[in-house]
Amino acid sequence: PVVLGVESSCDETGFGIVSDGVLLGQGLASSAAQHAEFGGVVPEIAARAHLEAAVPTLRIALADAGVEARDITHVAATSGPGLATAVHVGLAAAKSVAWALDVPLYGVHHLAGHAAADTLEHGPLPERSIVLIVSGGHTSILAVGDLVRDPIEHLGDTLDDAAGEAFDKVSRLLGLGYPGGPAISRAAVDGDPQAFTFPRALLRPKDAPFTFSFSGLKTAVARTVEKLERAGEPVPVADIAASFEQAVVDVLVTKALRAVRERSLDTLVIVGGVAANARLRAVAQDRCDAAGITLRIPPPRLCTDNGAMIAAVGDLLVRSDVEPSGLRIAADPSAVLHGAQLPLPQ
Ligand code: ATP
Ligand code: MG
Ligand code: FE
Repeated sequence: PVVLGVESSCDETGFGIVSDGVLLGQGLASSAAQHAEFGGVVPEIAARAHLEAAVPTLRIALADAGVEARDITHVAATSGPGLATAVHVGLAAAKSVAWALDVPLYGVHHLAGHAAADTLEHGPLPERSIVLIVSGGHTSILAVGDLVRDPIEHLGDTLDDAAGEAFDKVSRLLGLGYPGGPAISRAAVDGDPQAFTFPRALLRPKDAPFTFSFSGLKTAVARTVEKLERAGEPVPVADIAASFEQAVVDVLVTKALRAVRERSLDTLVIVGGVAANARLRAVAQDRCDAAGITLRIPPPRLCTDNGAMIAAVGDLLVRSDVEPSGLRIAADPSAVLHGAQLPLPQ
C-alpha cells in the first residue's frame, strides 16, 4: 500500500505518506505563530489555517515522497480527538482525496497516531509494551499490544492538566509565550533544576500508582513567581523553568517505569509532543538503562503532531486487512483511545 495520512486536530496541518512501515515523505505547516498573541490555540484561526495550508502542504508531501497523487492506494485521517472545527477541515480534505482517487478512507484515532509514530523510526512495536502518551491534551499510561488488533488498556490518566498543557500554562506565566514546551525547554538549559523544589503530585506509594495531576505544580510555580514579584526580587526564569521541567519529568518517568515493572514488561515507549523534551528523553534513558528496560522514543519531529504518524496507523490498518471506515465518517472530537481506528468497527 501507499497510504496518505492527514492530520489537522490542533494547529499543525500534516500530510505524510507511508508504505509498508516506511515513511516515504511528509509535509507540515503550523499556525502556532498565529495563536501566540492569544497564549493558546484559537480553534477558528486553526481551522482557517488548515484550509489555506491543505493543498500546498499535500503537494510538499507528494514531492518529498517522490510519488504522484495517483500512486496513493489508501487515505487515513485523524477523526478525533481534537478541536472539532480543525478536525473537520482535514477530514473533509481526506474525503475529497479518497473520493477523487476512488480509494478507501480510514478514520484514525490521533493518539494511536502518536504511538504509531515510533514504528516509523524503530520498527514494529513488541508484542506488549507500556506506552506513555504525553501531549498537549493527554497524559496517559497505556498497556499496548498489537495497535490494530488488541484493545488498548488505560492504566492511568491525568486528573486535571495534561503534561503539555502544564508546559504551556507555566510558559505563559513566565512570559515565555506559546507553544510553551519548546520555550520552557530553551529557558531551562541555563537553569538549575534543583533551585526550587516544586511538588511531585501523587508520587507516594499509597497514591494512585499511574494517575497524574499537574494543576498543583502549575499553581506552585505561580505562587513562587508572585512571591518574588511582591518582594521586588528578580524572577530567576531559567531556574524556575528547569525546576518545573524536572518535577514533571520525575513524575512521568517514575510512574511509567513502575507500570513496566508491574506488568513484567521490558519496553517503554514515550510518545506525544512532550516526548520531544530533551530532559525527559535524557532522564528516561538513564533510568531505563539502570533498570534494564528498552526505551523507545521517536525523533522529536515525529513526537509533535504530523501526518506521517496518521499514515503509519493507516498503513497498519491496511496491512491487517481492516475494513475501511468509508466516506461518511464524522469527527469524534472527544474520542477515548480504545483502538487505532475511529469509529471502532461494530
Ligand atoms: P493531543 O495529542 O493530546 O491531542 P496536541 O496534539 O495538541 O494534543 P501534541 O502536538 O502532541 O499535542 O503536543 C503539543 C504539546 O507538546 C504542547 O503542549 C507543547 O508545549 C508540548 N511540547 C512540544 N515540544 C516540547 C518540548 N520540547 N518540551 C516539552 N513540551 C513540549
Ligand atoms: Mg501543535
Ligand atoms: Fe497530538
